[in-house]
Amino acid sequence: MAQDNYLWAPAPTPSVAIRGGSQRLPVQRLFFVGRNYHAHAAEMGRPVDKSVERPFYFTKSPFTLTPSGSTTPYPSETANYHFEMELVLAIGKPGFRIPVAQAHEYIYGYACGLDMTRRDLQLVARDKGRPWDLGKDVEHSSVCSEIVPMPGRVIESGAIELSVNGQVKQHSDVNKLIWNIREIIADLSLFYHLQPGDLIYSGTPEGVGPVVSGDKLHGHIEGVGEVLLTVGPAAV
Ligand code: MN
Repeated sequence: MAQDNYLWAPAPTPSVAIRGGSQRLPVQRLFFVGRNYHAHAAEMGRPVDKSVERPFYFTKSPFTLTPSGSTTPYPSETANYHFEMELVLAIGKPGFRIPVAQAHEYIYGYACGLDMTRRDLQLVARDKGRPWDLGKDVEHSSVCSEIVPMPGRVIESGAIELSVNGQVKQHSDVNKLIWNIREIIADLSLFYHLQPGDLIYSGTPEGVGPVVSGDKLHGHIEGVGEVLLTVGPAAV
């Protein structure tokens, strides 16, 4: 459709930078794995028994994508805005019903991400059986570093850490994922036709907590990189 046929200018395609290049990765969808580290599931009061449970997911609008290094407003309607440090996986080719053994073929690369969350609203929604959107699909809440191209590579381990104002809050290892990278790709592809540019936030380890305006967050994943966020004044 010709650009000038739209009633108003369409929003730009959400995208992330790619390390070592000038091109950008156009983003399709944002998927998030729910409880995926045992210690975090326990701190949320909902432990996971992998022998009888499957992973679950929620999505956010790709317009919540925010580049690392941003200053974002403290969002409205929350008094408990939380950080969640996560390994992000970028899908590089289409796939549906992907076998675990072939899952690596669909990986384009990885990034460091923050799944910022209105925890108070998320927990109310969870406990009342309501959707999580107001708690999770928060404007500016999907922080993502540049994508590091690692086509076909499965990250099995590596330290994952988050500090607030220089103080370590989260420290774990990607080898503690309950459902690993291969299992996430295979399982999610049973529900969705995965597309190039789909990003999957793989879940957060324990130690999540609140931020206040002025906080500086620094996340790091061994072998991937880092993600930075400053929490600004309240949204107006
Ligand atoms: Mn999360």
